[in-house]
Amino acid sequence: MGAPGAGKGTQAKRLGRARNLPHISTGDIFRWNIENDTPLGRRVKACIDAGQLAPDDLACEIVADRLTEDDCRDGYILDGFPRSRGQAERLSEMLRERGESLDLVINLEVSDDEIVHRLTARRTCPHCGRIYNLLFAPSEDGVHCDRPTCEGVTLVLREDDREDVIRERLQVYHSVSEPIIEFYKKQGKLCSVDAMPTDRDAISATIEDLVNSAPASCSEGTTS
Ligand SMILES: [Zn+2]
Repeated sequence: MGAPGAGKGTQAKRLGRARNLPHISTGDIFRWNIENDTPLGRRVKACIDAGQLAPDDLACEIVADRLTEDDCRDGYILDGFPRSRGQAERLSEMLRERGESLDLVINLEVSDDEIVHRLTARRTCPHCGRIYNLLFAPSEDGVHCDRPTCEGVTLVLREDDREDVIRERLQVYHSVSEPIIEFYKKQGKLCSVDAMPTDRDAISATIEDLVNSAPASCSEGTTS
């Protein structure tokens, strides 16, 4: 778990590689379906266009379906799911049916101001869609896209990455994620990790340690 821009995707991918487990990102699955204009993609797009999060049923359906694949037999990492209390409860049911239990919920903690700082530094190529970040991964000259096919194209700040839009998304995030955090805290599954430092390797190492010591409970305090 973690707000948009907390580094969830990056850390989930790294953990997946380190443990040889599939990284299941509902956001990636949604995006793929939208890009390929599948029936699912059209349903998701309708929600996004209406300014809503994907409904619980849709996200649960996708996850349940993905978990039936062979590579999930020995475990998996969920990224971007559950995103509401309803989804968290459905996940508990799914796991019960599968005879599995959740090992750990890792919550990446980053202040809102830091998230705004990180996300307003994003720059997108209007030609190829590639995303750069002035703080972490700037283009070569910081102004133009690096791709040879985009020669001379100036990177732009997308509407989505403007401060007011980000603050609004953060509000939505906090209102839906707090009940989930409580839900997992009560179960003794929640581990909060201080993800404020921009040293991604250090954060990965902390997460690795937590996973190695799971299922030892760590529902209290923040590990850094
Ligand atoms: Zn480009």
